[in-house]
Amino acid sequence: MRTFERPIVVYSACLAGEAVRYNGGTVEDKLAKTLSNYVNVIKVCPEVAIGLGVPREKIIVYRQGPDMLLFQPATGKDLTKEMISFTEEFLDSLPEVDGFLLKSKSPSCGVSNTLHYRDPWGKEFYARGKGLFAKLVIERFPHLPVEDEGRLKNPEIRDHFLSSIFALADLRSFRPKSIKDLMNFHQRYKYFLMAHHQLKLKQMGRLVAEGSKSLEETYESYKKLFVQTIANRPSKKKHYNVILHIYGHLSSKLKEREKHHFLKLAEDYKEGKIPRTLLIELLKNWAYRFENEYLMTQTYLWPYPEELQHVYN
Ligand code: SF4
Repeated sequence: MRTFERPIVVYSACLAGEAVRYNGGTVEDKLAKTLSNYVNVIKVCPEVAIGLGVPREKIIVYRQGPDMLLFQPATGKDLTKEMISFTEEFLDSLPEVDGFLLKSKSPSCGVSNTLHYRDPWGKEFYARGKGLFAKLVIERFPHLPVEDEGRLKNPEIRDHFLSSIFALADLRSFRPKSIKDLMNFHQRYKYFLMAHHQLKLKQMGRLVAEGSKSLEETYESYKKLFVQTIANRPSKKKHYNVILHIYGHLSSKLKEREKHHFLKLAEDYKEGKIPRTLLIELLKNWAYRFENEYLMTQTYLWPYPEELQHVYN
């Protein structure tokens, strides 16, 4: 029911098919590849950008107190300053982007699973954490979706990332001509926002309804709240709550057996026995059957292109 704006997503260049890895390789990732058909990709390889060639000697992250440093054991080069200054320049040069899809485990790009050492030679393991480039990206854009392809194997993290980049692209391209336009936008996102943060949803509703500021001021405040709100990953409990709210729009038209079946499935979802998509498909089906225009515009039910839901199925 929804047409999708193309999100602008920064990709680690190796995930976007460029042979820039330390060993001259690239990375095959199904989701990154499929997603690239639906988004505008900005590619970056931070290690090539700081002058390391392809192929190159490995670099590692090591810790010195609270500091995270980047070192190339084979050459004895400390690359921390180069990486920080490249990253700052690169982030300054970006247009408004909707998210980052980075390569897991990399000392530069990894969002979570990068090995950190206690020493510059990589002899003593310290902990797993972020790569230096990824760390600086997250510090600069704390509310933007920033993930690596490893974390996106988790269905909840993937769903949050994909729905967020498409919501942010929608927001970025939206130019309300009146408060009514903003109200309509807010209405389409009602259940989506409710799943992320119920109190913020109310705050945004009040902001739009009050009309105490100019359209421009209201829109700017709305945008900020929207971005902050969707940065919260919805819990199972919140999804369950939203699903029951949506069901409430349809239940009076359903037969007793259908109601019973649906509520049983909702409990199964809450207990982790079935995926949420089963319930969502039923709700979408009933929204079509009963021609419920309000539900047919809800982004919660149509958060991103369907092909992306089936990448790992
Ligand atoms: S992980 Fe990052 S630094 Fe490493 S090859 Fe890919 S883009 Fe370059």
